[in-house]
Amino acid sequence: MTFEISLSGKTAVITGSNSGIGLGMAWELARAGADVVLNSFSDNEDDHALAKQIADDTGTNARYIQADMSKGDQCRALIEKAGSCDILINNAGIQHVAALPEFPIEKWDAIIAINLSSAFHTTAMALPMMRDAGWGRVINISSAHGLTASPYKAAYVAAKHGIVGLTKTTALETAQEPITANAICPGYVLTPIVEKQIPDTMKEYDMSREEVIQNVMLTRQPSKEFATTEQLGGTAVFLCSPAADQITGTTISVDGGWTAL
Ligand code: NAD
Repeated sequence: MTFEISLSGKTAVITGSNSGIGLGMAWELARAGADVVLNSFSDNEDDHALAKQIADDTGTNARYIQADMSKGDQCRALIEKAGSCDILINNAGIQHVAALPEFPIEKWDAIIAINLSSAFHTTAMALPMMRDAGWGRVINISSAHGLTASPYKAAYVAAKHGIVGLTKTTALETAQEPITANAICPGYVLTPIVEKQIPDTMKEYDMSREEVIQNVMLTRQPSKEFATTEQLGGTAVFLCSPAADQITGTTISVDGGWTAL
């Protein structure tokens, strides 16, 4: 039996997808034939231009829908506005680096809301649509920090571990249906979220930028290479293929060996 991957006729909603990993996933899913819904909290010309570029290049229907994933009602409205959601990629995420006693309360709340609670809201809305359609994929973007911890990242580590738990529950509630739920756990990928934490980490560890990249970030990644957004997009496409029909409730690490250490 050969496994072909054509996502033609499927709609993928990817939260937080006007940059980085989410955008990479949108491209790869569209290249595999899926219609895609891009999202972020902003609503400017560049956001809609990204969707148009994907549509023009791949011949799929690509749209941009603004919704702030820190707000439960907007998470739910995103799925409603998408109209259908065969593939849900919960990817929106932010980071803040600080020691626990100084960790700002508003940053804790925002990280838990965007990186974890948003997935609860979108999944709750998307599952009935997947059931109506008779097929579905929930792909949660966790992290190597969903399986291991680092100092100064209390909220992020808590949220990323939390989304692994949500993934397992989603998988059990859909286990006897043609719906799967899995978490992808990337190691370091050089996207804006990583760029933004370099200055704070330089301060915390009193290191140069190069030292942070080599001695803090990639020191955990035995391959000594960043993973790429294309590789993560390809992993999502694989999870949407028939070869992955029995893969559910698990984590897939794309981390250059980080979690083998
Ligand atoms: P990124 O900063 O490029 O992307 C984050 C996306 O989330 C952006 O599109 C941003 O607009 C969106 N976003 C942020 N707040 C939002 C909100 N309130 N509402 C809607 N959208 C919002 O970073 P990235 O590296 O592409 O991160 C994507 C996901 O991958 C995150 O969940 C992140 O935790 C995870 N991740 C990243 C890495 C890495 O090394 N880059 C590693 C492991 C996991």
